[in-house]
Amino acid sequence: MSATSRERFQSSLRRARKIAVLTGAGVSAESGIPTFRGAGGLWRRYQATSLASPEAWQRDPGLVWEFYNHRRERALGCRPNPGHHALARLEARFREAGGVFTLITQNIDGLHEQAGARDLVRLHGSLWQVRCLSCGSVTENRGVPITPAFAGSGSPDPETRARRFTAAELPHCSCGGVQRPHVVWFGEALKESDLAAAAAGVDGCDLLLVVGTSAVVYPAAGFVPLAKRHGALIAEINVEPSAVTSLCDFVFTGGAGEILPSLLDLAPALAP
Ligand SMILES: [Zn+2]
Repeated sequence: MSATSRERFQSSLRRARKIAVLTGAGVSAESGIPTFRGAGGLWRRYQATSLASPEAWQRDPGLVWEFYNHRRERALGCRPNPGHHALARLEARFREAGGVFTLITQNIDGLHEQAGARDLVRLHGSLWQVRCLSCGSVTENRGVPITPAFAGSGSPDPETRARRFTAAELPHCSCGGVQRPHVVWFGEALKESDLAAAAAGVDGCDLLLVVGTSAVVYPAAGFVPLAKRHGALIAEINVEPSAVTSLCDFVFTGGAGEILPSLLDLAPALAP
């Protein structure tokens, strides 16, 4: 990256009064969270993405919970990386200065929160929340295993002897209903209130940062044009060019953990 581009970006960052940040799987991958997409996307003999679906839940909720139990176990051992921390510091500093800051993430792993993010829109839900299928209530649940019956289960090893979990072994709400992961599965609609909060954060912002995501999938794909409508500057921080690269005013190529700490570090007077 040229010093000029970096300086221009930092001067825009200093002048900005409203900032929106969109993050995706790339940020978490640096912390060791598996993406379960593409070549590495297998869990046992299943295409992992096919387990994140209402159809898979209909077929075998215990299998879906085993998959999520495994993901929770993996996430438990992961820590926020310097990219998460740099964004959380920017949010704190920006807020203190009276600015409006909205972090919109497609990640469900909770690493932004762990790093100290406060105003967060989780477009795809959370690995650490469950939702009751009877009363609809959403609750925090950090239990690993998710219920005692799932202890030692969820191994991705294809040789694992599969056993079917009974309905009684699944997590249950205090109302008696079965709970599912509070994440947005393939084929499901995003929550209206999350979409509205994200759009409100992006609309009229001075600066939009697109970090670790290709931003090709709805609704992320709509954020760049929405930001542009009022003349926002767009910065992309990604390991490779994406579909939005050509629309960006600044492109920084590399991992978030490697790029963000020095990029978001402003003049000493403004530093945290
Ligand atoms: Zn309930």
